[in-house]
Amino acid sequence: MSQRSVAVLGATGSVGEATLAVARNHPDRLRVSVLAAQGTRPARLAELAREFRPDRVIVASADRAAALGGELPDGVRLTCGDQALLDAVGTGDIDLVVTAIVGAAGLQPAAAALAAGADLALANKEAMVAAGPVLRRLAAASGSSILPIDSEHAAIHQALRAGRPEEVRRLVLTASGGPFLDRDPATLETATPAEATAHPTWNMGAKISVDSATLMNKGLELIEASYLFDVAGSRIDIVIHPQSLVHSIVEFRCGNGIAQISANDMQYPIQYALSYPERWSRPAGSASTHLTELLQAASRLEFRQVDRGLFPAPSLARAALARGGGAPAALNAANEIAVDAFLSGGVPFTAIVPVVAGVLERHDRQAGGGDPETVDEALAWDSWGRSHAREVLAPFGG
Ligand code: NAD
Ligand code: MG
Repeated sequence: MSQRSVAVLGATGSVGEATLAVARNHPDRLRVSVLAAQGTRPARLAELAREFRPDRVIVASADRAAALGGELPDGVRLTCGDQALLDAVGTGDIDLVVTAIVGAAGLQPAAAALAAGADLALANKEAMVAAGPVLRRLAAASGSSILPIDSEHAAIHQALRAGRPEEVRRLVLTASGGPFLDRDPATLETATPAEATAHPTWNMGAKISVDSATLMNKGLELIEASYLFDVAGSRIDIVIHPQSLVHSIVEFRCGNGIAQISANDMQYPIQYALSYPERWSRPAGSASTHLTELLQAASRLEFRQVDRGLFPAPSLARAALARGGGAPAALNAANEIAVDAFLSGGVPFTAIVPVVAGVLERHDRQAGGGDPETVDEALAWDSWGRSHAREVLAPFGG
């Protein structure tokens, strides 16, 4: 049995920790060679370094490195900064890079990993939204694979194995609906960051939790799915499924659909991505519930339509995908700026989606041109979206 060398980017975050739990359960198959994080949790990062003994630990800045300094075990090399991250994943020594960084900041490391021939286990959907066609071309050129960790996309990846690409009629992405699904819309204006990040079925980082509350997360996932699986946005549906047990569905042209079911624990899609094309066992005790028990405990599975008036974010993302060019990158960038402003108390929850809409309107008025062809072109659209978002935010208090 061969052991794969893995780099975990975003190691101390929600997906990073779940990835390391999978690695902990499968030490004979996975060797953690690189741990990277911003460095805001130095004690935890040091603890992980002592446990996994990676070759390298990378943090965002020299200050963060200084905070970690003496805590690392002998033989673990500590470096810092963006270039150090690119160097670490681009060496060609890493078999698999798990990108669990938040936001478009994950784009360059993802591209460097693919260019160096490493497989990419992708949680960082924002990179795919900003530059999906570029990442796919890099993977094709080096012969590496992009394996989705996002639970919906891991579900679709599994379901697609039941047929051929030309036999697929539609993809159906399921959405929990987030914490505000049934909240009185009149009270959303005063929704706090604490309320917006209290997700009903998943325990995730702050940014994706807010995206789930606006349903922008599902919009980003629609773009991600279109790029990953080469299916037009017009053939991707979104359905609200509050129990988060059916993770997505592929409908084939014969009318048969394949849905994927598992507990709502990120270790399932992560292990799927890390083990593909194999399937490894789940260790006894860790979420080892039988599916029959899981379904019985849920007692019913609901599916509802998205209320597009209340939650316009998926429609905005669909329009940005259809528009192409820099629109998906600009949409993502604007959303990152607006979510940051909300989380830091600068603007109300209800400003987030209008800010994104405002930036897309500006994009539609001025832009021409095709899809970004390089990472730099995608990053230029990302910067464009950020600066316009700051302007559009100003009247909201941002
Ligand atoms: P999180 O906030 O819990 O963790 C983010 C991690 O990334 C932290 O370790 C942080 O230190 C690190 N990080 C952030 N910016 C960085 C940078 N510039 N350089 C280096 N490290 C950096 O976030 P999360 O919830 O784990 O989400 C990570 C990504 O996975 C996001 O793109 C999110 O959309 C996606 N995702 C998350 C979940 C989930 O269940 N949490 C599910 C599907 C997809
Ligand atoms: Mg998801």
